[in-house]
Amino acid sequence: MKAYRWKPRKRRNLLYLGLLVTALFVIGVFWRAEHQDAEIWNWTLGDKVVVIDAGHGGVDPGAVGKNQTLEKDITLAVAKRLQLLIEQGGGKAVMVRTEDNDLGTSQGLLKRKREDLAQRLQLAMDSQADVYLSIHANSFPNEKLSGAQVFYFADHPESKNLAVAVQQSLNSAINGKRVAKGNKDLFILKKANRTAITVEVGFVSNPTEEQMLKDPGYQQKLALAIYEGLGNYLSKAQSIKPDANNANSAK
Ligand SMILES: [Zn+2]
Repeated sequence: MKAYRWKPRKRRNLLYLGLLVTALFVIGVFWRAEHQDAEIWNWTLGDKVVVIDAGHGGVDPGAVGKNQTLEKDITLAVAKRLQLLIEQGGGKAVMVRTEDNDLGTSQGLLKRKREDLAQRLQLAMDSQADVYLSIHANSFPNEKLSGAQVFYFADHPESKNLAVAVQQSLNSAINGKRVAKGNKDLFILKKANRTAITVEVGFVSNPTEEQMLKDPGYQQKLALAIYEGLGNYLSKAQSIKPDANNANSAK
């Protein structure tokens, strides 16, 4: 029996060993949790390229709210926040604009607007991006209308998947009830020939929502929701790179 009895020194050693094993286990659990997060993150955004098109800009203010809020300012603010999130997530964001400018050069407003649109479309087509994402704010005569809504080109199933994912995360972030809507007449979304959506982040024509859209905290909430929806979509999409031949054949 004597041979099996622990001596005090042995007991102390055993205690140290126990502490060491516990410490290693705790470190292991934390390391694993962090490592797993990193893997999911990389897999989601990894080498993905997203074109972010902040609607309007420069001579084109877009919609104007009751309290003179300009759509072009809201779209740029949300776009820049989204850019940061995408870059922090390991993806690449291609910004159509980062300042208050449009992409036209002519003096005549109508011609300039046409040039601006053509430039944005060219960027969407040339970038070979995985996703083209344009940001706008809504306006309607009935000032009661509110809420964010996502639009997609109705004949592009991948765009619908992205639109549904982004609409879902927006709805849960801002307690919204709108449904992603397919449309066959959305010029850039149709011509971009890749996964493309337009996010209308809210109505500047609704005075309450107009105030919210100007709030940096609310802008961040919107950007985070768009980012989350994008991540959810990308983690499910199996093949989202556009076919090079198809992309080039767009007219
Ligand atoms: Zn707009």
